[in-house]
Amino acid sequence: MQDIRIERTTQPRQKPDMATVRFGRSFSDHMFLMNYDSKNGWHDARIVPYGPIPMEMASMVFHYAQEIFEGLKAYRTAAGKIQLFRPEENIRRMAQSADRMGMPAVDEDMFLEALKTLIRVDESWVPEMKETSLYIRPFMIATDVALGVHASDSYLFCIITCPVGSYYPEGINPVKILIESEDVRAVRGGTGYAKCGGNYGASIRAGVKATRQGFSQVLWLDGVERKYIEEVGAMNIMFKIEGKIHTPALNGSVLPGVTRKSSIELLRAWGYEVVERQISVEEILEAARDGKLEEVWGTGTAAVITPVGSMTYKDETLVIGGGKIGEVTRRLYDGLTGIQWGTVEDLFHWTVPV
Ligand code: PMP
Repeated sequence: MQDIRIERTTQPRQKPDMATVRFGRSFSDHMFLMNYDSKNGWHDARIVPYGPIPMEMASMVFHYAQEIFEGLKAYRTAAGKIQLFRPEENIRRMAQSADRMGMPAVDEDMFLEALKTLIRVDESWVPEMKETSLYIRPFMIATDVALGVHASDSYLFCIITCPVGSYYPEGINPVKILIESEDVRAVRGGTGYAKCGGNYGASIRAGVKATRQGFSQVLWLDGVERKYIEEVGAMNIMFKIEGKIHTPALNGSVLPGVTRKSSIELLRAWGYEVVERQISVEEILEAARDGKLEEVWGTGTAAVITPVGSMTYKDETLVIGGGKIGEVTRRLYDGLTGIQWGTVEDLFHWTVPV
């Protein structure tokens, strides 16, 4: 494994007030960078002060969106230790994204070492306040300076971090979602299972429309028939119907979420039956109308578990569980965040010390 050169900042940045910090707005002192080209492979692993880098305007990433990213968090436990949550899952998913986008994978051990070294250098940026964490954003961009669609010969891998507060400062509250029946996020055979920037660019218009109408998230349907449920915003989705948990199967257009996987494992350990399958929107609406839809929640790193309070499809709005947080939703949130912050025993060995 190559050594990581460390150049420490001489001008530490101002740390945010953790009581009011906005998600993803305040970045830590340092960043990790590593270059790739086909002749030298990955090289020049370094940690340098966070800041802008010079880029030529003809760089491939600006034109053809050959870009992938990840999102994970480091947590400080009550004893002051720092731990990551299932980082190997994010590392593996980034390799899958790289493969889909024709980009080189980063060696798994090198990736983990880069994460740990960067967090140790910026150790003081891992916040201590309750419900806070250090959000970590690894990403890779194509850096060839050339127009014309082709596989880039050179890439830059980066990791930046930012301290974040609780995703919902008022605590977890049920959100209103709009079922999007025109735009789709991804299609099978496309890039839905990869975490590439283009997927998110394509999701913005529907998000803006939903926000204007007072909804906080969009529920995405499949790209062929607009009939089957895929995801909610940038989260996976789960339904509790008559005591059983149902979630869309990983069919190629759904992102394989780490929180989704962890939730399924926890739920099964608690004795719930969890079914991964194709779920039509009609079926869910029917279950809601019949009072069989007991709970709906989204799963994702940023907010962990987000209860869904109502779903609107065309002209119909269905309220779920009286708009209150369901029992399983709450238990999952407490279970997962308990493991992440070290207040619940990590029976699954999901946490990795930094
Ligand atoms: N779906 C999409 C489209 C996402 O961007 C995310 C966030 N990475 C998720 C689901 C949830 O994935 P995870 O639990 O790994 O954060």
